[in-house]
Amino acid sequence: MTRPVRVRFAPSPTGNLHIGGARTAIYNWAFARRHGGSFVLRIEDTDPERSTTENTAQIVRSLRWLGLDWDEGPEIGGNYGPYLQSQRFATYNEALERLKRNGSVYPCFCTPDELNAKREAAQAANLSNTGYDRSCRDLPADEVAKRISDGESHTWRLKVPLDHGPVTFDDLVFGTTSFPIEQMDDFIILRSDGSPTYNFVVCIDDVSMDISHVIRGDDHLSNTPKQILVYEALGAPAPHFAHLSMILGPDGKRLSKRHGATSVEAYQQQGFLPEALLNYLALLGWSLDGETTVFSSDTLKENFGFDRISRNPAVFDETKLTWMNSAYIKAMGASFFVDAWLPYLQEVGFTRNGDTLLDASGALLSGTPATVEEVDADVITNRCWYEAIYPLVAERAKKLDEVNAMTAFLFSGDKVFYDEKSVEKCLRKPGIDKVLTRCLDELANEDMLWQHAELEEALRSLPEQLDLKPKVVFQAVRVAVCGNMVSPPLFESLELLGRKRTIARIKAARNLLL
Ligand code: GLU
Repeated sequence: MTRPVRVRFAPSPTGNLHIGGARTAIYNWAFARRHGGSFVLRIEDTDPERSTTENTAQIVRSLRWLGLDWDEGPEIGGNYGPYLQSQRFATYNEALERLKRNGSVYPCFCTPDELNAKREAAQAANLSNTGYDRSCRDLPADEVAKRISDGESHTWRLKVPLDHGPVTFDDLVFGTTSFPIEQMDDFIILRSDGSPTYNFVVCIDDVSMDISHVIRGDDHLSNTPKQILVYEALGAPAPHFAHLSMILGPDGKRLSKRHGATSVEAYQQQGFLPEALLNYLALLGWSLDGETTVFSSDTLKENFGFDRISRNPAVFDETKLTWMNSAYIKAMGASFFVDAWLPYLQEVGFTRNGDTLLDASGALLSGTPATVEEVDADVITNRCWYEAIYPLVAERAKKLDEVNAMTAFLFSGDKVFYDEKSVEKCLRKPGIDKVLTRCLDELANEDMLWQHAELEEALRSLPEQLDLKPKVVFQAVRVAVCGNMVSPPLFESLELLGRKRTIARIKAARNLLL
């Protein structure tokens, strides 16, 4: 019987979830889902100085925002918990005791100063292996017992079996990978302060959580032979390994803060859609069929496999990500758009009437298309009003925060924030006061439906009547109402703004000119 697929994402909460970690999480998740297996989230918080609960909460939030779900882990528990390493010390101690009993570990009494001196001497002598010289490996048992009972400070090291032969494994991405045993150090598994090291605890956890595949960044490739030796010492089967190539910045160097935003949260704040980010990250090292770039998370989890993972490092290109985001905005439809946009809108404090955008359940009220009375009264709890914004911005906004900028004029009441350049260019010109006056005359007709087609109809003949180019007339109205030359299509904008505001703003702009 083949082993059920159980994979884990094991972030250290020493910072935000970054792009590389998110990709690792996505691949683990997709692999588990493809094979009907379990995806475990384990928080590797054994470094108390650098791990914080806020970072853990943030990582969890970012993973959820990306649309990932896990079967076991923080917040949901599971049969293999606890899922925070800081709560698993009893398991580590027990495993250490087992290794002491079977003779696979030994205490090392060398002080840090002694170790440094040995390393420097080995380097000076140009030795190929500058690791620990194993001087404590074969101390007599009674000496060891005495030094320990005397309270002498010591670490515990793994006794690398010298007759082992190369440590070899079949990496699912890199193929057969081998490390000569001569290069393997008797590495420390328990520090002198009693804290276990990563290479030790990761194995205990992967064994006791029954992990079948370890999928992680190739920065851990050199840890893998050490971990294989720990599995062997524990008498436990090693999982399969799949190491993922690094993600590089556009300059070919490993992606880091130098390249700009690298955390998932930063991309969320900028108005990237989780579906677009997930899609883009999935492509950093994996391909569906070599050509398709836009696909859903369902497609990813139905098709993900190691056969299409590249060994070459992937380059993170924000321009491509932005393009993908705009493709998702174009395709998402009004309803999804409103749900995704609302948090951004609220974050900048844009509301039409204080905090009544939402009903008691926290959703926008739904309804029939907003009436002009509703719009004029500023009581826009009507979902349709927000959905009507979508076609105006869908083709132009690359990110959701840009939608806020494009639609700010709809949320500023009677006030208009004038862009000085636009005012100079479009309003402060001879004849424009007349344009605005005529426009007000036309809009004063209360029988006219306040809808974009009717508005267009009403204002269409103004340029001819005034003997001005349409662009001059309509840009003037646009700047009067929206404050700048780059608002969404004019008549739709007037419809959404409402009769009362539109008229008040045109009057105010005319006064500005008088
Ligand atoms: N906590 C490790 C890291 O964040 C996980 C390594 C692993 O997956 O084994 O790099």
